[in-house]
Amino acid sequence: MTFEDFDLDERIVRAVKEKGYVIPTPIQVQTIPLVLEGHDVMGAAQTGTGKTAAFGLPILHRLLQSKKTQIRVLILSPTRELAAQIDENLKAYSKFTKLKVLPVFGGVAYGPQIDGLKKGVDILVATPGRLLDHMSKGSVDYSHLQTVVLDEADRMLDMGFLPDLNRIFRELPKERQTMLYSATFPDPILKLAKQILKNPKHIQVGERSSSPDAITHTVYPVPAHLKPNLIKALLKQQDVLPALIFTRTKHRADKLQRVLQKAGFKIVALHSNRTQNQRVAALAGFKSGKFDIMVATDIAARGIDIRGISHVINYDLPATPEDYIHRTGRTARADEEGDAVTLMAPAEEILLHEIEQHMHRSLAREALRDFDYSVPAPERETALEKVSGQIGPTKKSFYSSHRPRIPRKKF
Ligand code: AMP
Repeated sequence: MTFEDFDLDERIVRAVKEKGYVIPTPIQVQTIPLVLEGHDVMGAAQTGTGKTAAFGLPILHRLLQSKKTQIRVLILSPTRELAAQIDENLKAYSKFTKLKVLPVFGGVAYGPQIDGLKKGVDILVATPGRLLDHMSKGSVDYSHLQTVVLDEADRMLDMGFLPDLNRIFRELPKERQTMLYSATFPDPILKLAKQILKNPKHIQVGERSSSPDAITHTVYPVPAHLKPNLIKALLKQQDVLPALIFTRTKHRADKLQRVLQKAGFKIVALHSNRTQNQRVAALAGFKSGKFDIMVATDIAARGIDIRGISHVINYDLPATPEDYIHRTGRTARADEEGDAVTLMAPAEEILLHEIEQHMHRSLAREALRDFDYSVPAPERETALEKVSGQIGPTKKSFYSSHRPRIPRKKF
């Protein structure tokens, strides 16, 4: 099957080809005809499956059937990064047309967004908070709205956006086409889907366009105080860069950035304490190769799409198995392969067990050869970590049960 088979506007097919897409991904094969026919869609799919083109291409095709420049499509995203990425993709797919796509999210000035809205827009890509601000100022006219896409609905729920979404949906025309995409479907999302979708077609894409088998998962058990040393040693191995590193908190992201910068790595941090300009610059610098390493927190990295990340490294285990899947999904995009590496302190083992249960498989434990696992914690840290349960009284048995084994070739 090729993109010609969908009978999409020739200008769209040309742009898709220019982007290098040859074969439609499974979600595109399933979704494009349904959206062209005007159906509502409830899609179980993650970012990384080709979802943006799956809903974006038929939306663009339908918009090209008439000429008015009014807000006819609204796409809602939980994060600024995902909104920026959807905007970027839609602009690429519509580059041979006159359709206008406007991103509207927080952290940047209102002026250009208000000007953009005044000039006329076909597709608005927005995060809920900033959209509500514009709505309260009266700068958004929904009277021509035809289609709404709610992307990463489960993340919207996690981030507390459900009340905002209800407020937005109350203002939208009842006659419309609606799509909801989510990786998981907890009860509040099912309830929301019932409220906003009419006779939806269900689409399930269990796997990302590259199968999860393309990712090699490895866990390095290590005492908490040796994580900085171990990550430095791992990053010095061959073929590890570019790498995306996740920490549990913004503070730990900043701290690790300082440590690795001092060790000579070209590294940038991405988290929600950064201004929007800093976040854009961080992503752009990482994508362009100016930085080899990006250290990020979960929220900031949600949904971002960067080609060529060879390693995702969990400096800290994520709080939930779903976050592990999302984090590691940042590698092995499309047809590439990737490695997911996790540094696990003893106190984090319980989180790893939850991840393994969720994935229905156990993840390989390794030890890095020639790494000195026996360096004791500084006195002050030991006392502190004992109090916080990081190492605890079983430190000795931990060392003996994690003697280095024969390492894999590519760490
Ligand atoms: P998405 O799930 O929309 O974030 O897409 C994930 C990645 O796959 C993006 O880098 C897209 O540009 C890319 N992609 C989407 N559709 C295709 C396709 N049919 N062939 C190759 N790459 C694609």
